[in-house]
Amino acid sequence: MKTISKQLWRSMVFTLILAVLWTAGAAAETPVKNVILLIGDGMGINHITAARLSLAEGAYSVLNLDTMPYTGFSLNFADNNLVTDSAAAATALATGFRTETGRLATLPDGTPLESIMLRAKAEGLSTGIVSTVKITDATPAAFLVNADSRTFERDVAAAILETETDVFLGGGADAFGINPFTKQPKSNALIHRALEKGYTFVSDREGLLNLEITPGLKLIGLFIGGDMSFELTRLPTEPSLMEMTERALEVVSQNPRGFFLMVEGARIDRASHTQSAKEMVGELLMFDQVVGLALEFAKDNPGTLVVVTADHETGGLAITSGHPSGETVNYHWASTGHTAAVVPIYAYGPGAERFSGTLPITEIPVRIAELMGLTGFPAAKEMEE
Ligand SMILES: [Zn+2]
Repeated sequence: MKTISKQLWRSMVFTLILAVLWTAGAAAETPVKNVILLIGDGMGINHITAARLSLAEGAYSVLNLDTMPYTGFSLNFADNNLVTDSAAAATALATGFRTETGRLATLPDGTPLESIMLRAKAEGLSTGIVSTVKITDATPAAFLVNADSRTFERDVAAAILETETDVFLGGGADAFGINPFTKQPKSNALIHRALEKGYTFVSDREGLLNLEITPGLKLIGLFIGGDMSFELTRLPTEPSLMEMTERALEVVSQNPRGFFLMVEGARIDRASHTQSAKEMVGELLMFDQVVGLALEFAKDNPGTLVVVTADHETGGLAITSGHPSGETVNYHWASTGHTAAVVPIYAYGPGAERFSGTLPITEIPVRIAELMGLTGFPAAKEMEE
């Protein structure tokens, strides 16, 4: 009996020493505490060029994106298609696995995949989602749920409320049962579940801007029934992507352990599907302001990694002629859908150099996880019965 307990004692001490060494090692090798992942949906190189050309100095103008020190290319194709969609690309960015188009964080055989955002949450970090489309849309959803199809919106809405995500800001109030006219929850509305879970709900810009950010605040802001408006025609009741990101950063940055915030400039894609260069540029310039905000935050808060990328290019945008002043620029759109063009990666902060070169899209979260000290990522989950 005595020998056993002595052995037990020894093994406990040994485990403790290992744990201390591991923690010390992990602390030394985890320079990244906060991650701001900015996804320009549909944002190709020429979309960025068009935004630059729209500024006062024309081709000589400098976007916030242009100031980022490390750039790379993401090979973004889907498992079943050279031309990917937001679901498969966001799955790759959230989980580190390629899958088929339409799938949310599941492999083609249905195996559910671990999300870097949910892993960060499990490790005690704060998490947040900001988007200019419905927060149940493919890009946000791939970070939060496992589903065989991106189309079951109400299921996605119910599931994302169970993820303990600290901030949700965007469109999609309909799926949560908000009356579009009164902005009040209908009976049996899904939003009641959020309120039960302690979320503060805001339904318009004023509510968001005037909100007092209290310690431990959990926030859900749904500003319109479906997707939010284009920046150029934004309703007075809708906050801008910049305003949503500012408030989200205030909430998640309260956590001394750090945070993982995903912000999607989603309507760059929507404007490109309709081949509207003007609206696309409006969306991209707003997204670039958010890039500027993230870079400022990272400069003020060492240990913050900012990664900007796209899921895919939309519209096959080409710039076929024009003057460097930005006058007489001609655009040609080759498609009303997505294309197989590789998309850019930009990075700033500790470990940013690891995002340069030509990378499979799946390497982006893998490298972020390594820099955050999240071991065992990427990983499939146990199949649920
Ligand atoms: Zn699209």
